Amino acid sequence: MALKGAAIMKKLPKTNCKDCGLATCFAFAMKLATGGVKLDDCPHLSVEVKEELDAAMAPPIKLVTIGSGANALAIGEEEVMFRHEKTFFNETGIAILISDKESESDIEEKIRNIKELDFERIGQKLNINLLALSFESGDKAKFEALVKNAYETTDFTLILISENTDALFSSAFLCADRKPLVYPITKENMSSAIPKLKELGVPAGVKGGSIEEIISVTSELKDAGIEEMVLDPGSKDILAGITDQTLIRRSALKKGLRSLGYPTIAFPCFMYQDSFKEALAASALITKYAGIVVLSHTDPWFLFPLLVHRFNIYTDPRRPMTVDEKVYEIGNPDKNSPVLISTNYALDYFIVSAAIEETNMPAYLCIKDTEGLGVMASWTSGKFNGEAIAEFFAKYGMEDKVKHKKLIIPGVAKKLVAELEEELTGWEIILGPLEGSDIPKFLSEEWKK
Ligand code: SF4
Repeated sequence: MALKGAAIMKKLPKTNCKDCGLATCFAFAMKLATGGVKLDDCPHLSVEVKEELDAAMAPPIKLVTIGSGANALAIGEEEVMFRHEKTFFNETGIAILISDKESESDIEEKIRNIKELDFERIGQKLNINLLALSFESGDKAKFEALVKNAYETTDFTLILISENTDALFSSAFLCADRKPLVYPITKENMSSAIPKLKELGVPAGVKGGSIEEIISVTSELKDAGIEEMVLDPGSKDILAGITDQTLIRRSALKKGLRSLGYPTIAFPCFMYQDSFKEALAASALITKYAGIVVLSHTDPWFLFPLLVHRFNIYTDPRRPMTVDEKVYEIGNPDKNSPVLISTNYALDYFIVSAAIEETNMPAYLCIKDTEGLGVMASWTSGKFNGEAIAEFFAKYGMEDKVKHKKLIIPGVAKKLVAELEEELTGWEIILGPLEGSDIPKFLSEEWKK
């Protein structure tokens, strides 16, 4: 929302008629600026004013959706240059390149590898989003067969890559309902591409030899009624990639340049033959500011760090990741099972619960709501002290769940022992290991003793 309330106010009828449900036009303007009401809530705006305000309030980087259904990928609509200013919203799509020059068995293996990827971090599945299908064989029928195969045998969102416009659009028609990204649309092919893009309703991957060239192509496409575009400045290496991506984002956010106000795509797969360099380029471009990165490898060692990096970049730095407060029953604990406690900072929960699961020993894991703060931070702020934990025990009836009255607390919380001995009468407080990775050994040896 680029427009401020005072600027909106100038465009309103200023009759204070209250038909919008608010007392004054000024109140309406202020609420509109923060997204609290919609333009349509005022029935007295002329079509021209509505269009003007609509355009002025549009996000500086357009939200573009590629694909359809549950696997659709939304990219763009970012509002800041730096993650710590607010957050990044729509995470970079990760695509795997498949060429129609590859053998059938190689293609099959690649697709199988991607389908079988099963990475999880802090309870979140980390996935590949797209297949980037590339026409390199010179045989249109072969490319169409590759597209048809990917369309029919996978649910992945598709990017179609072909310098041959005929092959590009004939294959796009085969999977139009999947809403593929059609790439590249250039100054050379855009006149013939525009009618087909409009007919298909698919997003255009705009490629330019320079930023100026991209501006001229997006401007023409926009004038022709094409709204969804993804930009490729054609960067050849990491440095050029970061420079081009930064220039595009800065121009859109800081200069309000609408013709660059679209998400971007980058091709680490074409920048380097060396897989380490490709991974490095991908990592840099996920950070700054690619909407999609296209990669050539499917090895877990190559993909997992990039998926985790993307996950980290796109979590909200203002809000720690949390899990619900409750007593988690791991396995089928009974009255003799150990009782452990930790905070609701997601990483704490997943480390401790995974460690308990590793022992195959049923246990009660008490997770106290600390608003996502870890053990020591929440102790100092009074959210994980003796009194708060005693209240938790009373709330969840821990007295009745076990007969041994022993509580294992995180090893870093030594200062909690005396507080808990005072607040939890009759309970023995046991200091657990300092590292989560030592919990299995601790439970198997110390607890069993
Ligand atoms: Fe003002 Fe429109 Fe609201 Fe009436 S309906 S008070 S004109 S904003």
